[in-house]
Amino acid sequence: MHYEKITTEILEKLKAIVGPKNVVTDADAMQPYSHDEVTDPAYHHMPEAVVFAETAQQVSAIIKLANACHFPVVPRGAGTGLACGAVPEYGGLVLSLEKMNKILEINENGLYAVVEPGVRTSDLQEAAEKKGLFYAGDPCSGDSCFIGGNIATNAGGNRAVKYGTTRHQVYSVEVVNPTGRIVNLGARLQKQSTGYSLDQLVIGSEGTLGIITKATLKLLPKPKYALDLLAIFDDRRQAMGVVTKIIKAGITPTCVEFMDNITIKSVEKYLNENLQGSDNGNYVIVEVEGTSEDDLDDKAVVLDEVCTENGASSVLVADHNKIWQARKAFAEAVRAESLIVCKEDVVVPVDQEAALLDEILRLAQKYNLVTRIASHAGDGNIHLNILKNEDATYEDWDQRVKANQQELYKFIYAHGGRLSGEHGIGYKRKHLMEEFTDPGELEMMKAIKKALDPNDILNPGKIFDVE
Ligand SMILES: Cc1cc2nc3c(=O)[nH]c(=O)nc-3n(C[C@H](O)[C@H](O)[C@H](O)COP(=O)(O)OP(=O)(O)OC[C@H]3O[C@@H](n4cnc5c(N)ncnc54)[C@H](O)[C@@H]3O)c2cc1C
Repeated sequence: MHYEKITTEILEKLKAIVGPKNVVTDADAMQPYSHDEVTDPAYHHMPEAVVFAETAQQVSAIIKLANACHFPVVPRGAGTGLACGAVPEYGGLVLSLEKMNKILEINENGLYAVVEPGVRTSDLQEAAEKKGLFYAGDPCSGDSCFIGGNIATNAGGNRAVKYGTTRHQVYSVEVVNPTGRIVNLGARLQKQSTGYSLDQLVIGSEGTLGIITKATLKLLPKPKYALDLLAIFDDRRQAMGVVTKIIKAGITPTCVEFMDNITIKSVEKYLNENLQGSDNGNYVIVEVEGTSEDDLDDKAVVLDEVCTENGASSVLVADHNKIWQARKAFAEAVRAESLIVCKEDVVVPVDQEAALLDEILRLAQKYNLVTRIASHAGDGNIHLNILKNEDATYEDWDQRVKANQQELYKFIYAHGGRLSGEHGIGYKRKHLMEEFTDPGELEMMKAIKKALDPNDILNPGKIFDVE
């Protein structure tokens, strides 16, 4: 892949577009933009410049300049990604959207919000809540990631079981396309059959097909009643297997989350707190919403029965803040244990999840892997963290991780699964994407990229390389 370097002349043109204060070339100041939340330095790359855009018109002018001078542009939100999607693998420009951070409208009658891409997800949740409303998108990184990043990765999170992923929260997006044109995709409608769903194509495209500069998002009335139950299982497989039973019992939970015992112990150590059942228990956290206290009680009774019948040693009403603090501390707890971690984000149909867990455990034993497992179990998405063994060299560990991936992904694809449930492909998984994706499907994806971005300047080398 050959690109032109960002010359002094180009820097002057960039300064003319966004103002000198919004163009950064100092190495120390650019360092945070050389990586996302993937802590392994093997995946870090320095940009040649970082530019902060404040308007869609500026984004458009930058993209037109990139096409004219042929340098890559990597859009970046908060940099909380876990696939190196915002990392400038081929150098060039990191284009930060962090200054486009206004909530432009919360419309109580129409139940929607209009936001810029740099709005923090939790800020939108809070702003909606102040008006008695509710934004359903809820990634565990919500207090740091941005809406633009959520849309670009089709972020999932805790409430996807009931409310779907980020793409289900979006009415429409304003996008700067790869040739620099500002276009509006989608509409604030409940239905439409009006040509291709280009909004849905851009959502989840990881910044390769367009830069999101504004979004109109769905809001809902805030649920009045909610309850968190913690079911503790001695047996990991029984814990994972309970998900389908809950759904078959006619309950639509908001979330069903799983943490295995060793992960609970890791979180316990990180938080310096005693967690219930941590001796040998595995957690299933179930959140349900109801129309009244009685409705919630009825659901709690059913959930208690289902979990107990399926092997739970206890089922407790959990303290909402405490239990979610423990679940959300998973990533930090792992990071405190090791900075060298391979984070798998695999997804299978929910009824295959217990079998996948078995396979993960079998392979971990076979390849002597140190694992920590938490999962959005309600939607089949398992986060398998593989920590470097303290006594292993990087090369030895990396070889075992790669051998594990080969077997794991064969299993996953044979069981109807995919590489990533919510974190995306970025450039970290693109070799696996190339290997495991149906060749016809991959060819269509590449044809779309080539047609929309003929100069391959927008986030090149992410998801796949265009030959
Ligand atoms: C502790 C922790 C917990 C997490 N939990 C979850 C979770 O529960 N669910 C989940 O899905 N993810 C989770 N993540 C991953 C991450 O937070 C999400 O992928 C998030 O959506 C990334 O948002 P961001 O603003 O940080 O984007 P970035 O990391 O900056 O970018 C991610 C990708 O989006 C592109 N991009 C960013 N902004 C734009 C834009 N405006 N236009 C076009 N492209 C853009 C980038 O080029 C890149 O490809 C977690 C991460 C951490 C560290």
